[in-house]
Amino acid sequence: MKNYNNSNKNKASYSNSYSNRPKNKQEVEKIIHFKYGMKVPDLSIELGIPNALLIKKFMLLGEMVNMNTELDIDIVKYMAEEEGYAFELAKLEDDILEDEPDNPSDLVKRAPIVTVMGHVDHGKTTLLDSIRKSRVVDSEAGGITQHIGAYQVNRKGYSITFIDTPGHAAFTEMRARGAKITDVVVLVVAADDGVMPQTREAIDHAKAGNVPIVVAINKIDKNNANPEVVISELSKLGLIPEEWGGTTPFVHISALRKEGIDSLLDILELVSEIKELKANPNRRATGTVIEASLDKGKGPTATVIVQNGTLKQGDYISVGTSYGRIRSITDDLNRLVKEAYPSQPVEITGLNEVPKAGDTFKVFSDERLAKVSAERKKLSVITEKDQSNFDPFEVKKKVSVIIKTDVNGSIDALKNVLKKLESDVFSIDIVLSMVGGVTENDVVLAKASNAMVIAFNIRPTSQIKSLADEQGVTIKTYNIIYRVQEDIEAMLKGMLDKTYEDIVIGTAEVRQLFKVAKIGTIAGCYVTHGIIKRDSSLKVIRDQVVVYEGAISSLRRGKDDVKEVKTNFECGITISNFNDIKEGDIIEASEKKEVEVA
Ligand code: GDP
Repeated sequence: MKNYNNSNKNKASYSNSYSNRPKNKQEVEKIIHFKYGMKVPDLSIELGIPNALLIKKFMLLGEMVNMNTELDIDIVKYMAEEEGYAFELAKLEDDILEDEPDNPSDLVKRAPIVTVMGHVDHGKTTLLDSIRKSRVVDSEAGGITQHIGAYQVNRKGYSITFIDTPGHAAFTEMRARGAKITDVVVLVVAADDGVMPQTREAIDHAKAGNVPIVVAINKIDKNNANPEVVISELSKLGLIPEEWGGTTPFVHISALRKEGIDSLLDILELVSEIKELKANPNRRATGTVIEASLDKGKGPTATVIVQNGTLKQGDYISVGTSYGRIRSITDDLNRLVKEAYPSQPVEITGLNEVPKAGDTFKVFSDERLAKVSAERKKLSVITEKDQSNFDPFEVKKKVSVIIKTDVNGSIDALKNVLKKLESDVFSIDIVLSMVGGVTENDVVLAKASNAMVIAFNIRPTSQIKSLADEQGVTIKTYNIIYRVQEDIEAMLKGMLDKTYEDIVIGTAEVRQLFKVAKIGTIAGCYVTHGIIKRDSSLKVIRDQVVVYEGAISSLRRGKDDVKEVKTNFECGITISNFNDIKEGDIIEASEKKEVEVA
């Protein structure tokens, strides 16, 4: 469980003259546990502060609470930290239920979840189309299938789920977000083209995710097809067919002519049999988001794959940092269904905001628990951000790199140099090393692995550079090995000084104030320039003087929490630890940009 222990420096302190307070609170390792529905008397006991005094303290913060007010996470956390305590969320009852292992007698076979990968133009999309069309579509659905990001094939009494986005970005992005959804990777290699850079990359990605590979040698219908060459090339990369004494299944197919598809599906079924994929349909559902978007009519929609349990219409659900009650469930044949079972992909509606691909979901017994779970995710996202460079289990400092070079010789040379820099304190993790330009997938993989990209004797395109900027991925270009060594050495020793610059991204005028119990003062604003983002830093400016500097604690349009608000829109802003906002104040939002000083 996460500990939201926050140091109490820089916090205003109150008079501490009451008697039942610990004398030397710094030495008392007390954690205040937030429980859903907690009221002033509960917090009073936890903090050792009399009710009346606690209510007064809340009033001073602009929080009008009484003995019966259910306290919000934010204000309990704030008060706990004000008083010098650590803060933690009590484990939800439902979490305890979910964490319990499934009873083996409840487990039933589930369909494997398959991702198709391979080099561009080797036939991934054609294969996914052919398989999709091979499904027995009942007359009711009229053969009209809806693209929901994944589909299921049902044949001979078993099912296989395919993620309908070919390529590596989706796979790696999901893995980066902790979603281990793929059970098997189908590696498509064109028989007339053989192993290409993205074939290698796919193998690396699948291996990094510890996912078994089934090779589909495609385009065997072509005159110049040479499957034997492909097999021998793949063998050199560790994918050895069973006939040669290895363990990798190979199938010859023509995705275009729909040949060999049945054999491929049979093999996928066999692989899943061996993996003994099982799930328990008799519990509340958990699973992962494949795609999500905002639909004009339906509101936030998400394609999810159920990984355990049964998902039902009307369920209270938290999905990443969003939550809601499931209004509708639509299957991959565009049919409204009441329930979805393990490994089944469905589209759901009813969430309060759009989740992200790779977010996990969980069903709760009531909406309030789902909401608390989503709020807790929000808090943990913030905490994880703070701790992203620190792994308590990792004593060594680690630098992760992706190496892209012009020729193979450079890779070896770079690897040698980097290995020499390793010590008892520092380690270097080479996530991927390959000949070729920097690709979108490299950027995604770099983000997923928290790695920097070393581009040696190659120049990333401006598109790739801006993608990397967007994703916060560092690409460094070099043409002298010695420079790489110097730079990484400096990085390891923390000698590369980093400074941060504040860049103003937007301003808003405070036009009206709303005092709301439990939240405090909400500033009703109008964005006059640029954009205000939920995670911006802000300055409050009054008569040209900065009266407060801090962070936004909530950003809303109407009743909805939003990530950003653009020029000419109204929004409600609450400011962390600041309630003294006035009409006419200007809120200036900024973002920190890292500037390196060599
Ligand atoms: P992707 O980039 O891997 O998704 O590749 P596509 O599925 O878009 O296929 C690239 C091209 O190869 C298209 O023109 C397809 O029609 C063709 N193609 C795919 N599979 C086959 C096949 O089995 N045989 C032949 N001859 N062409 C194929």
